[in-house]
Amino acid sequence: MKITFLGTGTSQGVPVIGCDCEVCISTDPKDNRLRTSAMIEWNGKVIIIDAGPDFRQQLLRANVQDVSAILMTHEHNDHIIGLDDVRPLNFKHKKHMPVYAEPRVQAELKTRFSYIFDKNPYPGAPRIILQNIDNQIDIDVDGVLVKPIRAMHGTLPVFGFRFEDFTYLTDVKSIAPEDLAKVKGTKLLAIDALHHSEHHAHLNLEQALALIKIIQPEQAYLIHVSHRMGLAKKVNPSLPEGVELAYDGLTIAL
Ligand SMILES: [Zn+2]
Ligand SMILES: [Zn+2]
Ligand SMILES: [Zn+2]
Repeated sequence: MKITFLGTGTSQGVPVIGCDCEVCISTDPKDNRLRTSAMIEWNGKVIIIDAGPDFRQQLLRANVQDVSAILMTHEHNDHIIGLDDVRPLNFKHKKHMPVYAEPRVQAELKTRFSYIFDKNPYPGAPRIILQNIDNQIDIDVDGVLVKPIRAMHGTLPVFGFRFEDFTYLTDVKSIAPEDLAKVKGTKLLAIDALHHSEHHAHLNLEQALALIKIIQPEQAYLIHVSHRMGLAKKVNPSLPEGVELAYDGLTIAL
C-alpha cells in the first residue's frame, strides 16, 4: 500500500489569503498546505479521499493517471467542491467515476452539483456513479475492502476510513467507543488536529494527542492543520515520538 497526502490543510488552506503570519509567509514547503485529501494506492486500485477545491492541482501534482473511486468523508465545501474535475478522467478512461458517500452527503452533492445529476446532463458534464456508505458494511472498491469508521465532526456525523493497517480520520471532534474499537490495532493513523485552541468541530492538538494515546498506532500524522498550529519546524520537535505533522506530498509505503 502506498499513501500520499495530497493536502493537509484546513478549509482555508495555508497560506491563508491576506495573512502575513510567520506560517503563511514561511518558505518551508511543509508550511504550505492544500485542503485535506489523500490517495491510497492498494492492490492495483487508486482511491482518493475527498475532492476539495484543490482536487485538480492535487491530482496534477501527484501525476495521477486514473482513479478507481472517490470516498467522501462529509459534505463540507473543502471536501467536495472539486468534484467537477473528474471530467478529464471520465474522458480519458471513458467511464463514470464511482463516488462513495452516505445518503445525507449524496443529497448535498445533488444540490451543489445539480447539473451533474440532471436527467439529461449536457455533453461534457462530469459522469459520476453515486455509491452508498453504510456504517455496518465494508466499502467494496472492485474487491478492495475499506472499513467505514463513524466519527462526529461536532454534531455532524462523518466517515473516516480504515484500509487494513492505515486509518484516516479527518474533520473529527469525537468518536464513540464502539467506533473507536474498529480503529484499534491500526499501525498508521492520519488524524485531524486543527491548532492549539478549542474548536467546536475539530480536535485540537492536545485532544488529538490524547486520542492517539488511546489508539496507540506505531505512527500518527496530523492533518487538517491550520496556520495557527505554528511552523512545522517548531511544532514537530514538540510532539511525542511517533507523532508528526503531515505535509503535502508526504508518501508512505505500508
Ligand atoms: Zn474540512
Ligand atoms: Zn497565517
Ligand atoms: Zn468539515
